[in-house]
Amino acid sequence: MLKNFLCVAFMISGFSIGCAQITDGKITTPEPTEVWEPQPRVVSPGEAKTKSAPSDAIVLFDGKNLDQWCYSQSEYGPSSPDKQAGWEVKDGVMTVVPGAKHIATKKKFGSMQLHIEWKTPEVTQGKGQDNGNSGVFFQQKYELQILGNYKNKTYANGQAGSIYKQSMPLVNASRPKEEWQSYDVIYMAPEFNEDGIKVKSAFITVFHNGVLVQNHTEIKGTTEYIGMPKNNAHGKGPLCLQDHGNKVSYRNIWVRELK
Ligand code: MG
Repeated sequence: MLKNFLCVAFMISGFSIGCAQITDGKITTPEPTEVWEPQPRVVSPGEAKTKSAPSDAIVLFDGKNLDQWCYSQSEYGPSSPDKQAGWEVKDGVMTVVPGAKHIATKKKFGSMQLHIEWKTPEVTQGKGQDNGNSGVFFQQKYELQILGNYKNKTYANGQAGSIYKQSMPLVNASRPKEEWQSYDVIYMAPEFNEDGIKVKSAFITVFHNGVLVQNHTEIKGTTEYIGMPKNNAHGKGPLCLQDHGNKVSYRNIWVRELK
């Protein structure tokens, strides 16, 4: 078998990306899909205010229990609707229990408006991607990254507000750790024809702490840690929150289904 390892510093369209390791023409390490420069400009968001659910919203977490959620072995599923979500609920907040794995909604969704509030812990395991890492996975396929990015540098297309490894946020609107942050999202699901070919991409618009960070961004496929996006046909899917080993907390989560 031909094994060909290359290590090359790339400059593509003004973006500098990582050192590539390629085996048999395939990307085999995470670095080639990391974009480190340019970094998004830092913007201080306005005052934090919670946002109660409108009358037609489906409330996914109101501070009381995890009844709307279940265990998911992987962010990409399949989830287990009969197995209880293992995260902690205390004082109106739910928090990742590292090792308890991911949680997914029992209900499946397509396009949606989402409101979700989150905060990263006072004590973090480390820097970069190990600082308050979690994530919102739409349809258990596409990650909107959650990360503690206040004065914490990582690759730009992997920071808070990024569509992981695909689209860096327009600006860095992060708050410090232990402060509540919010995402308000318009997510439009992809469409596939009867042959399983994608005929319309997913698109996403994201406000981070009220600041626009993704403006009708095309999602090119699954948000892979290693390698390129994939586009296998799928229907509606759960909304999944990631256990990345950090005690990220959530509150006030609601969606409005869109067509
Ligand atoms: Mg993540």
